[in-house]
Amino acid sequence: MERLRGKVAIITGAARGMGESHALEFVAEGAKVILTDVSEAAGKAIADQLGKNACFIKHDVTDAGQWSKVVAEGERIFGPINVLVNNAGILGHTAKTAELTETEYLKVCAINQHGVFFGMRAVIPSMLRAGMGSIVNISSIAGIVAIYGYPSLAYVASKFAVRGMTKATAVEYGKNNIRVNSVHPGFINTPMMVEATNEEGGDALSLIPLGRLAEPKEVSKLVVFLASDESSYITGSEHLIDAGMSAQ
Ligand code: NAP
Repeated sequence: MERLRGKVAIITGAARGMGESHALEFVAEGAKVILTDVSEAAGKAIADQLGKNACFIKHDVTDAGQWSKVVAEGERIFGPINVLVNNAGILGHTAKTAELTETEYLKVCAINQHGVFFGMRAVIPSMLRAGMGSIVNISSIAGIVAIYGYPSLAYVASKFAVRGMTKATAVEYGKNNIRVNSVHPGFINTPMMVEATNEEGGDALSLIPLGRLAEPKEVSKLVVFLASDESSYITGSEHLIDAGMSAQ
């Protein structure tokens, strides 16, 4: 099946974890994909493996100037961008609010929150040229509820912000045929989750009604759906994929 035929997508944070998985699924579904990440060697290796429908551009999502270059270079290679997956993010250290440093707070918000704003701002003109667009902003279950002992206030703040920015932009650009949605994963088996579990040291599985972590590919299926025309009437909404964690 080629559910993403005709789509030109930028996926940030695509050198590992869920971003890598989204890139693999997107190419398998017929999209052309610009993978970006701060990790150059790993990102380039994945793009090379994916072949002529993928390329890699080194990119820090907190740098607005680099965003303009990514969009211009992506358009030059594959044509106007009609999908953006704002996936890059960091967990930061687990610290209670009174112990959270200003530096740590600002770093987490710069990547998780401001990076999403810079991305949407840079890509929307290209989507207007394409006459359509789907933006998928990766938030978190931490953009719906706070979970004791896991992410810091900075992570929760940034992921709630992504949920709000998604709705604001969806309302603004609906008449331009640009849809914007947020995705809220629970605990997913990626390097980030492994690091978080190591740092926190708790029993993550006990918090999950389905009793297991998700594999990244399970989230990619949802992201493919939101990027595709199958979700043509869905915008401004939040999509939980959390094994029932937030239902407790
Ligand atoms: P991951 O395994 O840590 O992968 C994230 C990738 O983003 C890494 O390659 C990382 O590079 C890159 N990155 C970090 N800072 C960047 C920056 N400033 N600019 C560009 N790229 C940057 O994370 P993941 O678990 O796949 O998470 C992907 C997204 O899902 C994140 O937004 C995360 O908050 C969200 N999420 C994850 C989970 C989970 O359970 N894993 C749950 C809910 C939401 P480095 O390795 O060099 O840092």
